[in-house]
Amino acid sequence: MKRIQGWGNMETDYTVPDPAKDYLESVVGEPLTKKNVTLDALLKKVTPSRLPNHPLITTDTEERLRHARGQSLNDWIDMMDGLIDSFPDGVAYPETEDDVRVLIEFAKKNRINLIPYGGGSSVVGHLTPPREGPPTLSMDLAKMNRLLDLNEKNFEATLGAGVCGPDLEAQLEKQGYLLGHFPQSWEYSTLGGWIVTRSVGQQSDHYGRIEPLFVTGHMETPSGPIDLPHVPRSAAGPDLRHILLGSEARLGILTKATMRIRRLPEEEKFYSAFFPNLDIGFEAVRAIAQAELPLSMVRLSDPMETETTFQLSGEEKLVNLAKKGLNLFGQGEQRCMFLYGLTGNAAENRLADKRLAHIIRNHQGMIVKVYLGEAWMKKRFLTPYLRNTLWDMGYALDTLETALPWDKIQSCQKSILKAIEHGLEDQNERVLVFSHVSHVYTNGGSLYITYLYRRSKDPHQTLDNWRRLKGLASQQIIDYGGTISHQHGVGLDHKPYLKSERAFWGWTSSRTWLKTPIHNTS
Ligand SMILES: Cc1cc2nc3c(=O)[nH]c(=O)nc-3n(C[C@H](O)[C@H](O)[C@H](O)COP(=O)(O)OP(=O)(O)OC[C@H]3O[C@@H](n4cnc5c(N)ncnc54)[C@H](O)[C@@H]3O)c2cc1C
Repeated sequence: MKRIQGWGNMETDYTVPDPAKDYLESVVGEPLTKKNVTLDALLKKVTPSRLPNHPLITTDTEERLRHARGQSLNDWIDMMDGLIDSFPDGVAYPETEDDVRVLIEFAKKNRINLIPYGGGSSVVGHLTPPREGPPTLSMDLAKMNRLLDLNEKNFEATLGAGVCGPDLEAQLEKQGYLLGHFPQSWEYSTLGGWIVTRSVGQQSDHYGRIEPLFVTGHMETPSGPIDLPHVPRSAAGPDLRHILLGSEARLGILTKATMRIRRLPEEEKFYSAFFPNLDIGFEAVRAIAQAELPLSMVRLSDPMETETTFQLSGEEKLVNLAKKGLNLFGQGEQRCMFLYGLTGNAAENRLADKRLAHIIRNHQGMIVKVYLGEAWMKKRFLTPYLRNTLWDMGYALDTLETALPWDKIQSCQKSILKAIEHGLEDQNERVLVFSHVSHVYTNGGSLYITYLYRRSKDPHQTLDNWRRLKGLASQQIIDYGGTISHQHGVGLDHKPYLKSERAFWGWTSSRTWLKTPIHNTS
């Protein structure tokens, strides 16, 4: 059963071992509060529905609460600390394109805001209903989740847009194929959500970015249905797929999508290496990206992320032993962990691994083939549950991300970390902040920043602190000319920054060119 408060299902927990608790206390301080509002109290806050009756729509209170927010930190504060003050007025679960059309017509006729709902994993405020104005209907696509066609000649599969990661791959795997898009939210996020937010999976170097995987799709819009062209590529003007990719529900409801698929890989391996410091690590990752090796993923953690990963692993003895070994080989306190993946044909993997080893050694790196890479792989969809545990311990955790060219990325990373680390000093609050580089390109890479601070007894203060830290970091990103989002999208949280990023195109927001918005974000 999916949680209403927090991430994931009720049956899964991520346990934080006692030494890790001590570590967090030593870095940010003893937690101030652990109190959450109860589910009953939240349900009592749900305001009466303003929707006319409709056979496809439920106005059940719990359903409306479940669809009221996503997973951004302010969503969490709303749901856990009870600050929530806007709800969809109803929820619909269409099963067919006819249902979707009927619901759009109903929304048009009754002047209702429509918010498509995929897996609800948005971390930038895509799903928040407006506090004022017309009523809101949440359209949950969960029942449009089937494999509709598998074209083995074209290596293409057509699926309902509401299919979530595990169900999608299970249906393809039965036939010997995979899509391979693995965002960390894979357990719940959906095909439609991935496409309209331009999401990026963890194995982005091989098959993880959604854009090249997306072939075509069907949309229902307020102006009627749209079938995108079905061709491998076209030079006939702007590519319509790229207007849909990243449109964040402003154009319509994507009901199904045809995707490029692959045969299941012959082999998949995940390994690790260490570099003595971040400067060398950055140089190594750039060299690896520019060598264009056929790797499926790379990830370089800064020293703080490396240390925190060790501390939270719960493997105290193993970690102490590993640290001793690493020290002996010149990988001291400033060590940076590097993870990489090899996916595909075994012989090609061996060759890529050999060339990679050469680059790593040229950068004073040390390769560790045991444990760490596989441990990352095994826990990759469990890690988001850590946020639940930390919240319950009294810590608020958020992440943000950007992408920059290689000649700017390191200075921007330093500035963001500094801004966040010192962001709450006037309240004598410390912030734990760390980062990694992943999703690399020959000309640059993406930065992923994680920060953690103590929840306040007053939830408004927790929220103000989030706004401040997010604002400080976002300003650094804008000042360095980075993108406000490499993978999470715009939503409401990044709306204030879109203008500076798009200024050179003369856009103030996507609405400039959209006459019939059906969604409230940006
Ligand atoms: C723990 C965690 C880890 C994450 N890791 C990653 C990651 O590795 N990479 C990454 O890119 N993102 C990541 N995200 C962000 C998020 O998972 C992605 O943005 C994802 O693509 C959202 O998909 P969803 O189905 O959950 O969409 P939702 O959150 O339900 O919706 C997001 C937006 O898409 C719209 N939408 C959804 N379905 C449709 C549809 N069929 N038609 C039209 N509009 C639609 C919604 O209206 C909304 O505007 C993570 C989030 C969490 C909570």
